Amino acid sequence: MKPYIEWTKEELVAEKARLEQEFAEVKAKGLNLNISRGKPAAAQLDLTEGMLTVLSKNEDTFAEDGTDCRNYGVLTGIPEARKLIGDICEVSAENVIVYGNASLTIMFDTVARSFLKGVAGCTPWNKLDKVKFLCPVPGYDRHFGVTEYFGVEMINVPMTPEGPDMDMVEKLVAEDDAIKGIWCVPKYSNPQGYTYSDETVRRFANLKPAAKDFRIFWDNAYIIHHLYDDRQDHLLNIIEECEKAGNPDMVYEFVSTSKVSYPGAGIAALISSEANLKEAQEYMNFQIIGHDKLNQLRHVKFFQNLDGVMNQMKKHAEILRPKFEAILQVMDQELSGLDIASWTKPNGGYFISFDAMEGCAKKIVAKAKEAGLTMTGAGATYPYHNDPQDSNIRIAPSFPTPEELEIAGQVFVLSVKLVSVDKILE
Ligand code: PLP
Repeated sequence: MKPYIEWTKEELVAEKARLEQEFAEVKAKGLNLNISRGKPAAAQLDLTEGMLTVLSKNEDTFAEDGTDCRNYGVLTGIPEARKLIGDICEVSAENVIVYGNASLTIMFDTVARSFLKGVAGCTPWNKLDKVKFLCPVPGYDRHFGVTEYFGVEMINVPMTPEGPDMDMVEKLVAEDDAIKGIWCVPKYSNPQGYTYSDETVRRFANLKPAAKDFRIFWDNAYIIHHLYDDRQDHLLNIIEECEKAGNPDMVYEFVSTSKVSYPGAGIAALISSEANLKEAQEYMNFQIIGHDKLNQLRHVKFFQNLDGVMNQMKKHAEILRPKFEAILQVMDQELSGLDIASWTKPNGGYFISFDAMEGCAKKIVAKAKEAGLTMTGAGATYPYHNDPQDSNIRIAPSFPTPEELEIAGQVFVLSVKLVSVDKILE
């Protein structure tokens, strides 16, 4: 296919008429499809069948150390749950606190705690004139939502396939002590599916921030979420690298089993240095007597160990892979060579990142909606919902069936082509 930009005006006008006709036919079908959020499909939730009955009798509810998980207590999580999370993250159980059912709560709470009480004895952020965060873009909308809620000034840092632009990160954190954090999704990033290179991780671990209370918010949400057996990304262990670099307290790592077991009822954890966990615990002391230990125990009994978890991830991949492939195939077939877009082909995670021609993303999402396809709002992948290029669109293929995704793909590429032809004809 020849790039649209090389087509004559007559050819483009004819193409537009043809696309409009096709679009009208699709619209008439009254579709109702949704590729807006990274929600596991019911078939994935079914994989965890058995967890709900794994504790069926009173005597099942005791942890290995004899703790009665039905009762109050054990602030940092039962030891076997800390170990399981530690094994997933390749850290020791002492580096892990298991919380409740969502890592986003821990992230929100960590920011809230920094505002209220400060970090490592530094001034609480609410007493400062300015607090800034670096935000690799495009990124996860809910991260940006948290910092926006607290009035943090967010600074865009461009992402590359190796991770954030580290020259920029190093320079900014060294120069400005108002920069207190950076949001990272280091593996199979949301939305590109990129994994930070070893060099990027080492550069993170060796940062020399002006602010003593600067922290890396390392959201390892997709740490074991591979799509293929033979094409897996590898991420260096940030906890280890920070220790080696003499910066053990610079990182908070977050994980959860939201996309391993149940997104509404998994277990989530904070992984960090002894000093950071102590500080988190001092705050938690006033917050809660102990999280849901029965759920922690259910997870350990159901999965048994890391092998059990990885086995489950393979089953997730078998369900997810055909979905990614279905929509990628339509995009490859229909858009390759037209020079109007680029998109990622991740080895894992939950998303595909799509970049349209500048100024087209909002129109494409609106056009797709007209034909019954709901997508993540254009701009959502940027702080303040402001994509300066108006070009990025996040695609979340996990929820619909592969057949629905093929149709969704057709609607999407039609919308992309129509908006792009219009733009070129302008
Ligand atoms: N972090 C990232 C990068 C995500 O994409 C998501 C969900 O889509 C979450 C966190 C939410 O995790 P949890 O369910 O543990 O709050």
